[in-house]
Amino acid sequence: MFDKILIANRGEIALRVIRAAREMGIKTVAVHSTADSDAMHVRMADESVCIGPAPSPQSYLSVPAIISACEITGAQAIHPGYGFLSENSEFVQIVEDHGITFIGPTAEHIRIMGDKITAKDTMKELGVPCVPGSDGGVPDLEAAKKIGEEFGYPVIIKATAGGGGRGMKVARSANEMESAFLTARAEGKAAFGNDEVYIEKYLTTPRHIEIQVFGDGKGNAVHLGERDCSLQRRHQKVFEEAPGPCITPEERAKIGKICADAVAKINYIGAGTIEFLYENGEFYFIEMNTRLQVEHPVTEGIFGVDLVREQILVAAGEEMSFSQDDLEINGHAIEVRINAEKLPNFSPCPGKITAYHAPGGLGVRMDSALYDGYSIPPYYDSLIAKLIVQGRDRAEALARLERALGELIVDGIDTTVPLFHALLQDPDIHSGDYNIHWLEHWLEENMAQ
Ligand code: ADP
Repeated sequence: MFDKILIANRGEIALRVIRAAREMGIKTVAVHSTADSDAMHVRMADESVCIGPAPSPQSYLSVPAIISACEITGAQAIHPGYGFLSENSEFVQIVEDHGITFIGPTAEHIRIMGDKITAKDTMKELGVPCVPGSDGGVPDLEAAKKIGEEFGYPVIIKATAGGGGRGMKVARSANEMESAFLTARAEGKAAFGNDEVYIEKYLTTPRHIEIQVFGDGKGNAVHLGERDCSLQRRHQKVFEEAPGPCITPEERAKIGKICADAVAKINYIGAGTIEFLYENGEFYFIEMNTRLQVEHPVTEGIFGVDLVREQILVAAGEEMSFSQDDLEINGHAIEVRINAEKLPNFSPCPGKITAYHAPGGLGVRMDSALYDGYSIPPYYDSLIAKLIVQGRDRAEALARLERALGELIVDGIDTTVPLFHALLQDPDIHSGDYNIHWLEHWLEENMAQ
């Protein structure tokens, strides 16, 4: 086992990793930009290294700075968290070339899944159901129009290098194809340096269901059921839960096994998430994330496992601490993402926290790097806290969420907490009756933007 690991991240996810490491008796190194000298992850780690100025390209994304921090402190492994360098296969290769262990999948698996066309081809071959669409890249507008006719509109044009909701355009009719195709291409080129696009049938009322998988890199893998992340604004998740309110145990066992078998076959190591759209009882693969997800705590809650601990174990060459038969669902968990944003426009709202009180009590988990007097810098993601609640069933979890949100105090800045108070008054949230478009419609009706 490692003696010391470095966490190449900040905020709540850096704390999350520090906590797991500490319980395992592993020392931690935090890295930080000059804007984060007073950040909680710096205070909580055993050691810290300043790796550059505030803008992330010069600090949290600076590969040489992070490698030097590792060498200076003698850290043997790097946990990337999510975002930043977590899915950068070149970074992983450089880390490994320096004799440092990357706590995550191999550079090769990250590369395969980072290109959406290659990912889809690979998954199809491994027996995972995919959204019907073009076979690989679509070279020109003529070909795009042909595919539109063949599959029927609406279709979605996606940049193969896309991510974070960028490089995707819907064409609802043949008339819209030209502008959608050219825009998706241009966005892919501008944001990711790659203008290759592919086309999929656009599903009109799907839910977003993702399967958590975990592999040991030696051909063994398990699944930890699904998360329903259908409540999204601009393709960004805001509310996640497990188990999915509409998934039966039979469906879970079936799609879970398909996913676990697929990643076992490629000797996948560590945590991964296979994302699907789910409509009329069918699952359609859209992408795989080769890292820990923001919403992993709801899975940890219902299975009672520590996914970061498992990531560290397998990265160190040890066995996973559970097998498929050990994994049993217990209750229902919900996470809400609390952002430093001002409603109704969700405009970023960094600033000084004048008072902070985290909720507590039975079934409440608060993953946050906030503290009284902390100043949220304007340079990074606006996520400031994840409130995770758990109950014996969904109704109890929802009641607990309302209770916990009522206890939370974050003064000095605006947050998205009022959104969740309002959502909890809606009957559809209580019945679980929503798809990926529900929140956008609800926001239009309930929050004049
Ligand atoms: P990104 O990598 O940018 O997150 P994804 O492929 O995961 O892109 O898609 C993000 C979101 O876009 C999905 O959660 C869903 O809301 C929507 N989406 C993607 N593909 C389709 C599709 N074929 N039909 C309908 N919606 C889609």
